[in-house]
Amino acid sequence: MAELLAFPSACRRCGVLLERPGERILCPACLSALAVCRAPYCPTCGRFFDGDGTPHPCAACLRQAPPLSEHRAAARYEGAVKDILLLFKYRGLRPLGRPLASFLQTAIGDDNPPWRDADLLVPVPLHRRRRRERGFNQAEVLADELSRLTGIPILSDALRKTTNLRPQTSLRSQARRANIRGAYRAVRPDAVLGKTVVLVDDVCTTGSTLGECARVLRGAGAADVRGVTVARA
Ligand SMILES: [Zn+2]
Ligand SMILES: [Zn+2]
Repeated sequence: MAELLAFPSACRRCGVLLERPGERILCPACLSALAVCRAPYCPTCGRFFDGDGTPHPCAACLRQAPPLSEHRAAARYEGAVKDILLLFKYRGLRPLGRPLASFLQTAIGDDNPPWRDADLLVPVPLHRRRRRERGFNQAEVLADELSRLTGIPILSDALRKTTNLRPQTSLRSQARRANIRGAYRAVRPDAVLGKTVVLVDDVCTTGSTLGECARVLRGAGAADVRGVTVARA
């Protein structure tokens, strides 16, 4: 304890000293920098539009209905939201799952969120090797916290990632979809049959991961599959 007092920790985002009791990892200013995106969005894929207006379907979703019936993100993947998600995922800062889930709940919880009247929250799985390296699955931590906040049960082993793909970030949208086909398997079809399922992930980039997970869950008999993410690229 004496050591802790002698060397107070610093905010992992901005470096300011964390001196007040209960403060850890992030300072209050960085935590409150988690800002909701108020821009209009596509209710089907969660993509944000520039400018003002009301939510409306985007051209891509009108052209072809995606496998998720709806998707919401709390923010754009930029600024403080991006910094904090990166700290959470790549710096092993698992406790950040709590403020991030509570941000999600505050941001969209009162606005017809995808988890309203849902039966299950299902985190997007990591391949077991990746999960071992990281020590936790960030999507599962978020789903777990969201389950605590909403009372909707989590089913963390509904899906399994069967192939350890090369990082999706290096691929373009079309290549991502091809790369990801067959990468997930529904291992609990009994538990999702006829259910309204909400897929939970930290970030949605092109939608190919969520789309493939939704396709697999629907194939396993889920009645409806929606998605929720903290941020949308
Ligand atoms: Zn800070
Ligand atoms: Zn859309």
